[in-house]
Amino acid sequence: MAEGMDDRRRGLEEEYFNRKNKEAIEKLRAKIKLAEEAKAAGISTMSCPRCDGALQEKTFEEVLIDTCDKCGGVWLDSGELEQLMKRDQDGWFSRLWFAEG
Ligand SMILES: [Zn+2]
Repeated sequence: MAEGMDDRRRGLEEEYFNRKNKEAIEKLRAKIKLAEEAKAAGISTMSCPRCDGALQEKTFEEVLIDTCDKCGGVWLDSGELEQLMKRDQDGWFSRLWFAEG
């Protein structure tokens, strides 16, 4: 029956999104672990490249970014930038990006 197929399809979609969520959480955990390890080892990856402010991880458009609490600078690694660009469906991020300076 078509209805049975729909239920099965919904089940597969749910499974897919659950798996995607789990992957995202695992990536986030891995990143937090790395940051904690770096902090414990005294590596100054969490300080601002522009000033002596401290970088804080913030979630922007569901992408984790580093922002400076002193100069307000925003720092991204290439993967994070790519994620933001993918979310840039109406071009607001490109406008922001190229309008600056
Ligand atoms: Zn700064």
